[in-house]
Amino acid sequence: MENTNSKALFERAQKVIPGGVNSPVRAFNSVGGSPVFIKRAEGAYLFDEDGNKYIDFIGSWGPMLLGHADPDIVDAVRETALGSTSFGAPTQLEVEMAELITSSVQGIDKIRMVNSGTEATMSAIRVARGFTGKNKVIKFKGCYHGHGDSFLIEAGSGALTMGQPSSPGVTEGTAKDTLNADYNDINSVKELVEANSDDIAAIILEPIAGNMGCIPPVNGFLQDLRTLCDKQNIVLIFDEVMTGFRVDFEGAQKVYGVTADLVTYGKIIGAGLPVGAYGGKKEIMEYVAPTGPVYQAGTLSGNPLAMAAGLTMLKKLKNNPGVYEDLERKSARIAEGMTKTLEAHGITFSANRVGSMIGLFYCEGPVTSFADANRTDKELFSKIFHGMLKRGVYLPPSPFEAFFLSNALSDEDIEFTLNAFEETIEEIVG
Ligand SMILES: *Cc1c(COP(=O)(O)O)cnc(C)c1O
Repeated sequence: MENTNSKALFERAQKVIPGGVNSPVRAFNSVGGSPVFIKRAEGAYLFDEDGNKYIDFIGSWGPMLLGHADPDIVDAVRETALGSTSFGAPTQLEVEMAELITSSVQGIDKIRMVNSGTEATMSAIRVARGFTGKNKVIKFKGCYHGHGDSFLIEAGSGALTMGQPSSPGVTEGTAKDTLNADYNDINSVKELVEANSDDIAAIILEPIAGNMGCIPPVNGFLQDLRTLCDKQNIVLIFDEVMTGFRVDFEGAQKVYGVTADLVTYGKIIGAGLPVGAYGGKKEIMEYVAPTGPVYQAGTLSGNPLAMAAGLTMLKKLKNNPGVYEDLERKSARIAEGMTKTLEAHGITFSANRVGSMIGLFYCEGPVTSFADANRTDKELFSKIFHGMLKRGVYLPPSPFEAFFLSNALSDEDIEFTLNAFEETIEEIVG
């Protein structure tokens, strides 16, 4: 596979952009090799600067649920751009977006648009703190909520240890207000709540973890968190930046029948334009300025191009629930096909799947926490990644990312992918 142009671009990029990329995972650091530079994409396919074609299993890390360059979305953006790209004043599109979400998703009375998932989660915990008058936030090891300071904290060794900054630049002051629990372990949460009596403002989690591979909540976990938050006056925040509009139009809240107090969105809600949102209970959202005292703003928030793209995407999903059935069928076929190949070659693995989120771990299962996920054979993953890439299948370049499927995948694409997987595994195990 020719990659001269991508290599040359990476050389140039590294001179002027840190690591040559604008978001670290794109650099292929965890799989090695030189990243592929993408020129354009259509449906389920990416085309790189050397003219290679790949079946896309990243989908821009989530937004491209309907595949790339969907004609309706492209038209909506083009049409809207003709009337200018930003006003800094309210628009009808924003009202329609908010009406569509509040009328479709349980528990969302009001919603505020921002420009990324990171902004959504940062704002949500600020509002939770303002609303409760409390300081600390509990998150879970292995969950990702964007790059806000409060979230870049890993737990120390003991469950009750105060957080230490895991990224330089995050102050001790910020670190001490973030506590880390173990995903799917309600007791680890209860211990933190007890040890920090009356100072927990919020518990935030990915209701289906997708940033340590795919790890679904175990039976009762979300319900137990709901009960605990009700008892202790803690704001329960579901970070549905990845799961929202993907596992169901109404997200993980619907799949597991648990309603959060605040929900954060990103990715699909912007259909590939920079959008995030946070919303939830009226009494909490009214704490946000200008109704309430918690300040949060944005020059480009609710941007017309982004709203046009996102609204078109959400309408298409809402009016066509068959998309989710199709995705389920396609995802099941891929997971089952890969599982069969791995079994046939005697490879130790564990597969998790919720709808179109698939996590393959190359270790003994079950995988229910970050400690489990971290046992995956990273070297084997890298070999599989490169074996697939050279055969024209672009998997996420990290062992801790779920595959993101799009409904643009055809049965032939799935066939092609499963054959590539079979060949790759055969090549590796010899
Ligand atoms: C991607 C992601 C974010 C961050 O969103 P950005 O738009 O990259 O800032 C936050 N939470 C979850 C669950 C995500 O998957």
